[in-house]
Amino acid sequence: MSEQTLIYEKSVPGRTGYILPNTSQSETDIMSRIPGKWRRATEAALPEVSEPIVMRHYVNLSTKNHHIDKGFYPLGSCTMKYNPKMNDVAASLPGFSNCHPLLPDSAVQGCLQIMHELGTFLGEVSGFPAVSLQPVAGAQGEFTGLLTMRAYHAERGERRNKVIIPDSSHGTNPATVTAAGWTVIQIKSNADGIISPETVAEAMDETVVGMMMTNPNTLGLFESNIAEICRIVHAKGGLMYMDGANLNAHMGIFRPADSGFDMMHFNLHKTFTIPHGGGGPGAGAVGVIAALAKHLPSPVVVKESNGQYKLDHNRPHSVGRLHAYVGNFAHMVRAYAYCKALGGKGLREVSENAVLNANYVKALIKDDYDIPYDHPCMHEFVASGNRQKKLGVKTSDISKRLLDFGMHAPTN
Ligand SMILES: *Cc1c(COP(=O)(O)O)cnc(C)c1O
Repeated sequence: MSEQTLIYEKSVPGRTGYILPNTSQSETDIMSRIPGKWRRATEAALPEVSEPIVMRHYVNLSTKNHHIDKGFYPLGSCTMKYNPKMNDVAASLPGFSNCHPLLPDSAVQGCLQIMHELGTFLGEVSGFPAVSLQPVAGAQGEFTGLLTMRAYHAERGERRNKVIIPDSSHGTNPATVTAAGWTVIQIKSNADGIISPETVAEAMDETVVGMMMTNPNTLGLFESNIAEICRIVHAKGGLMYMDGANLNAHMGIFRPADSGFDMMHFNLHKTFTIPHGGGGPGAGAVGVIAALAKHLPSPVVVKESNGQYKLDHNRPHSVGRLHAYVGNFAHMVRAYAYCKALGGKGLREVSENAVLNANYVKALIKDDYDIPYDHPCMHEFVASGNRQKKLGVKTSDISKRLLDFGMHAPTN
C-alpha cells in the first residue's frame, strides 16, 4: 500500500531530509548571497520529507526497473560478460573520479600509466602493437577504423569507395560505412553460416577499401576461412577490419592480428567488465598493425625514456579526434582492474567458460528448438522458433513468457 502513496502525499511542511553543519548564518543569509537573477521568485514545490522517506522513494523506484543486479538480463553481448563490482569500486576511487581532464600530464602520471598499460594488455590479447582507447563505442571504433583505412589509401594516392560486409554482420557495420561516405557490398554466408573465400574473391577488386568481418560471427560461429579471406583482400590492396564485439569468446585462444587482420575494435563494455545493456557510456578501443599506428586518433599516451608518461598531441598523420579529452576514462580503469585481477590465464578462462556455457545451454534446448547451424558454437548460438510457430506460438510470446521467470529477454 505505502508504495502507492506519492512522495508528495507524504510531505509535511518544514520537514527536511538533511542536517547542515552548525553555522552562524541563517538560510536567508546564505540565499541572499546568490545573485537575484539566479534565484526563484517562488519556492519550488518540492515534497518536504525525512531522509529515510527520500531513500525509500528512490530505492523503490530503482527496483521497478529490471536490471542486471536484480535479475538475469540476456539482452546481448553487453550483458553476457562477467561484471565484478570491485572494478566499479576501483573506477570510483576519488583519485580517479575527481581527476580533471585538463590537469597537466605531470599531475596525472598514474592515470596515464593505466591507459598506457591497458593499451599494452589489449595489444597482447589481440596481437595488435598499437591501440587507441579514445573511441567510446564499438560503432565509433568502426568509424575510427574506416578513417584509418581512408588515411592509408590516401597516402598511396588511391581513392576507393566500397566496403565488403557479410550479411550476418551487426547493423553498425553498414551504417558506419555509409557514414564514411562509402558503399556497402553485402555478401552472403554459406550453408554453414560462415563466409567462403570464393564469395569474397568475387566481390573483391581495386575499388574496395577493405572488408569488415565479425569473428566469431553473430551466429556464434568461428569464421574458419579468415586467413584465406585476408590473403584475397590484401592481394587487391584492401585492408581487413575485425569487428571484435565477440572477443569474449576467444581471449588467450585466438589473436586476430595473427590471422591477417589489420585492425579491430574492442567493445570494452562487452568483454572487459564495464556494465552496459540498456544504454550508458561505452568504450570502443581500436587496435591496428604497426604500419597504421601513426593514423590512430590523437592524443596518444606515450612513455618517455625517463619513465614519464605524456599525452602526445603532435600526430601529423592522425585521423584526428573522435571524442573530447581521452575518451571514457572511468571505463579504462574498470577494464584495467579486470585485466589485472584476472591476468592472462584468467582472461582465457573467462572465454573458455563463455564457450562452454553457450554449448551447454544449446545442448539443453536442442531437443525442443530448431538450431539452424548445429555446429559447436562459440559464446552464443542461434535457435529458431520455427517449430513453435507451427503451433501458433511466436518467438515474442516465448520471450514474454521468460519475463515471468525473471529473465528480460529481447522482446522488442
Ligand atoms: C554491439 C556490436 C557492435 C556495436 O557496438 P556498440 O558499442 O554498441 O556501438 C558492433 N558489432 C557487433 C557484432 C556488436 O555486437
